[in-house]
Amino acid sequence: MHPLFREELSHIISGQVEWNCPLSGYTSFAIGGPAEALVTAENKAELAGLLDFFSRRQVAWRVIGKGTNLLIRDEGFAGVIVLLGLEFQQIDFGIQQEDGRTRVSAGGGCGLTRLAMSCMEKGLAGLEFVTGIPGTVGGAVIMNAGAWGSEIASVLKALTVLTLEGERTLQRRDLDFGYRCWHDFHKLYGRTVVINADFELIADDPEAVRRRCSQLQEKRRTSQPKGKGNAGSFFKNPEGDSAGRLIEASGLKGRQVGGAMISEQHANFLVNRGGATSADVFSLMRLVQEKVKEDSGIELDPEVHFI
Ligand SMILES: Cc1cc2nc3c(=O)[nH]c(=O)nc-3n(C[C@H](O)[C@H](O)[C@H](O)COP(=O)(O)OP(=O)(O)OC[C@H]3O[C@@H](n4cnc5c(N)ncnc54)[C@H](O)[C@@H]3O)c2cc1C
Repeated sequence: MHPLFREELSHIISGQVEWNCPLSGYTSFAIGGPAEALVTAENKAELAGLLDFFSRRQVAWRVIGKGTNLLIRDEGFAGVIVLLGLEFQQIDFGIQQEDGRTRVSAGGGCGLTRLAMSCMEKGLAGLEFVTGIPGTVGGAVIMNAGAWGSEIASVLKALTVLTLEGERTLQRRDLDFGYRCWHDFHKLYGRTVVINADFELIADDPEAVRRRCSQLQEKRRTSQPKGKGNAGSFFKNPEGDSAGRLIEASGLKGRQVGGAMISEQHANFLVNRGGATSADVFSLMRLVQEKVKEDSGIELDPEVHFI
């Protein structure tokens, strides 16, 4: 970035610009080279200022949440990574309707487990399935995150996005979601930040909601690898089958490339055993895709996003 543009960037946000910032600390894989800069947009005015700057100065950018579905290249990112600050982490509870329905509005940077816990305390059912998904609301919308047969799209009512043109609220009925993706996002890619999501939840006994959350948390604890960097399920499940079953059937559990390994516990988890590079994970990914294709004829499609 031109030194004058660097100076300009540092005046748009209230916090510090982290120059040449290693991104491994911002992903659950603990992998990733440096971004030219990393900034936090504390509020809408700062975010709007950043989008305007990126457009005028033709600077590449990307907003990330908790980086739990990301593989960042070892070469890093020649642009600015944007994080969402405090104003984007709020949760607002609407007034309960006579039929027990309540709107809950959460900022794009709000953590999913925190959201699920807050709803649990208020006795609101519908978001239990996100308990233990380590991402943010914004990331979950982009990914149409889901678990145990439920997904974000089924509880979402409206989305607020910020683009260069300003703020827009989009109704769920006008949005097109698929398995682990928001289809419309590809049209908006690189231009849109999810700043808020409204969910419709149902009043329930807080104790019953708490029980369901703990049961799902326990299921997660026993089925997923602990203590190693990963990005959750690496591949999407192909129609009518499971990626984990196919990888296991190909005898790939435990296979390693450099510091990257296919988990012994869950074959659809590629884990960082320590010191894995992005290149290690890519090579392991290709190895899995080739072997599974050879054995079953099925092409596995990554769920993880790449930067
Ligand atoms: C241990 C573990 C378990 C997991 N379990 C599940 C599971 O059960 N189900 C499931 O669906 N996923 C699961 N995941 C994957 C991941 O947590 C989800 O996909 C989550 O929704 C990603 O959120 P994030 O904030 O980390 O997004 P990131 O990984 O930071 O980003 C994902 C994508 O969204 C974009 N993005 C993020 N925030 C915004 C925003 N506000 N506006 C615009 N674009 C944005 C990023 O640029 C990127 O392209 C798991 C991951 C881990 C590590």
